[in-house]
Amino acid sequence: MSTILDGSRVRDAILNDLRPRVAALTAASRAPGLAVVLVGNDPASQIYVRNKVKACADLGIASQSITPPDTISTEELLAIVGELNRRPDVDGVLVQLPLPQQVDSRRVLLAVAPEKDVDGFHPMNVGNLVAGRPGPRPCTPAGIMELLRQYQIPVLGKRAVVVGRSDIVGKPMALLLLHAHATVTICHSRTADLPGVCREGEILVAAMGRPAMLTADYIRPGAVVIDVGMNRITDRAEAARIFRDSAERLATLDRRGSVLVGDVDPIDMQEKASAYTPVPGGVGPLTIAMLMSNTVAAAEQHLADR
Ligand code: NAP
Repeated sequence: MSTILDGSRVRDAILNDLRPRVAALTAASRAPGLAVVLVGNDPASQIYVRNKVKACADLGIASQSITPPDTISTEELLAIVGELNRRPDVDGVLVQLPLPQQVDSRRVLLAVAPEKDVDGFHPMNVGNLVAGRPGPRPCTPAGIMELLRQYQIPVLGKRAVVVGRSDIVGKPMALLLLHAHATVTICHSRTADLPGVCREGEILVAAMGRPAMLTADYIRPGAVVIDVGMNRITDRAEAARIFRDSAERLATLDRRGSVLVGDVDPIDMQEKASAYTPVPGGVGPLTIAMLMSNTVAAAEQHLADR
């Protein structure tokens, strides 16, 4: 029997730990403040931002969304970020990605004050991560480390394989595992013998955005498998193949027009892993919880620095 690593349970534990810290800040001075900049009308981004705002409200964090049109220029967006950087009631500034094509995303992310960079994407905080110095860590990988910690999954001395090398997930994930003393291999689209390399992983993290790509061949028996992938499948035949005709999943597809699938084959993962994160309900809930955690930590730091 494999253990299901329940992200919702870990999320709730993270949020419950934050509640007294938010209460203490609010009593001593003011509620922590998060500003989210959402450019344009991308439906997926709108859902992400709505969920972030809702999590803030639930926790007592003061949030605000700034929603400029998708015709905004880089300079105009830089001015908005600059103003949020100067606001004393704002502890965290988050610019929701992706930005429209005409906007220079790198310049915008570089403009967020490093001490308000609750996503952990600013190059200075990337440097802090590489050097193992304190600073906000990217939320999804930080949430995965918290999940491993809460389930007491040993990392020290283990062989960890991370598939995906994005700045948001793959690279910071590999660095956090490295700092926790795993022996880490990073794989990507040009990796030779990907199944063979993945099979070396006692901890296997999949973050490619390729529905159910890692099948039994890629999974070492007894591995701990972390499936970061969030892929929406709309094709019924594909869903039937991936979920082996599961009536429940196909009913979800019929009802909603799509069904969520990770980057790892869900049935093979269940059969071969000793523990795994399901999709949905595994990694997904952790990201926003860690955003809240980074915001509270930033507020504590700002109020201590005053
Ligand atoms: P990304 O920026 O598109 O990066 C994907 C990475 O996977 C790249 O490094 C790419 O390699 C690698 N890759 C793609 N196809 C591959 C293949 N066939 N074999 C080996 N490697 C391959 O994606 P991301 O932002 O890191 O996100 C990855 C997945 O995680 C997506 O499904 C995303 O929706 C999900 N995600 C979930 C959460 C959450 O909260 N649960 C948060 C963030 C992301 P190259 O570098 O060589 O191109």
